[in-house]
Amino acid sequence: MLLLLLGVAWSAQAQKIYLHCGRLIDGKQNKAQEKMTVVVEGKQIVAVQKGFVQPGTGDSLVDLRQKTVMPGFFDLHVHLESESSPSTYIDRFRLNKADLAFRSAVYARRTLLAGFTTVRDLGGSGVNVALRNAINSGYAEGPRVYTAEKSIASTGGHADPSNGMRDDLRGDPGPAEGVINGPEEARKAVRQRYKNGADVIKITATGGVLSVAKDGSGPQFTEEEIRAIVETAKDYGMITAAHAHGAEGMKRAIRAGITTIEHGTLMDDETMDLMVEHGTWYVPTITAGKEAAANAEKPGYYPEVVVPKARAIGPKIQDNFAKAYKRGVKIAFGTDAGVFKHGENAREFGYMVDAGMPPMEAIKAATSSAAEVLQVSNQLGSVEAGKMADLVAVDENPLTNIKTLEHVTFVMKDGIIYKSE
Ligand SMILES: [Zn+2]
Repeated sequence: MLLLLLGVAWSAQAQKIYLHCGRLIDGKQNKAQEKMTVVVEGKQIVAVQKGFVQPGTGDSLVDLRQKTVMPGFFDLHVHLESESSPSTYIDRFRLNKADLAFRSAVYARRTLLAGFTTVRDLGGSGVNVALRNAINSGYAEGPRVYTAEKSIASTGGHADPSNGMRDDLRGDPGPAEGVINGPEEARKAVRQRYKNGADVIKITATGGVLSVAKDGSGPQFTEEEIRAIVETAKDYGMITAAHAHGAEGMKRAIRAGITTIEHGTLMDDETMDLMVEHGTWYVPTITAGKEAAANAEKPGYYPEVVVPKARAIGPKIQDNFAKAYKRGVKIAFGTDAGVFKHGENAREFGYMVDAGMPPMEAIKAATSSAAEVLQVSNQLGSVEAGKMADLVAVDENPLTNIKTLEHVTFVMKDGIIYKSE
């Protein structure tokens, strides 16, 4: 009986999936390879071979000979708990965490089916931690989630959860809620995020567009506070992300050792050079900028205080991206999905290419570069033996038509096929 059970277990494990790939972009090399076979066993890629290698008995074959296969995409800036709509600002008084949880499961699934097999969630209510756990344990379908839990802000700053509320509802949120003043509170806020289950730390280094507050770009942390956050995060092995529109806030964050600058809208040459010097990554979120600018023109979509900020900041991100790319700043893919519809993340590729980045570079920004940012290059971000089996495919050649990435027709994550058209 024992032998029989072992026999079953052994043969189940030995079963492999052979993927015949018409074209393979592996996320690392600068050239696509034609007619390749990727062999998957369990959750892993076990071989990448030239030609169409025939599967053995008991193995299965996936025919992607008419497609281009790539590593699963990363989006380093999403908010899986919410999705922008005219009711967003009322929803925060109306929805319970359970409501957010059901919605986030839908957004996560949509993200995965769009080809994004890994995301970094840069702030929500904490439901994003439960969502990550639910996906990891099979209760929900979605990408691998690296979550910041709640963003860290200063009092009245972008991501202070009580911004714009009636004074008797506002209270005085502190480090536990992600609001800090001074290095000591900054350290506590990071430790609290760690305790709550965060994987990464997010701060709002400057004002922001969508908060109910006047300033959209001025600095909102002292350099000393950011340094305390970055150092404490390192103690727990966590990378750090800084939302930033204005240059002064960015410079403080870069000098303090932040891992990524998000949006980077009003970045000047000096800031770009500082990023190159410090090896700081830039995560552009062009799509969110365009969407916010477009929504600002719809009457009543945003509160009045948000409209001028969205008009002023939104359209500038793409031009800034073009300059930063030319100046040699390291770029990793991120969209701020949630500011626009989840599942439309791949729009960003087109905007990056329109601004002058070659398609292959844009694909690398969303694969091997993003994996480097998250410090998971040993497992993810390229199609190689030993990596996790996260693969996507599209019908056309993205090197000649980048828009094809908006129509992913095959998705595998951890060796499981979630979509095959
Ligand atoms: Zn964001």
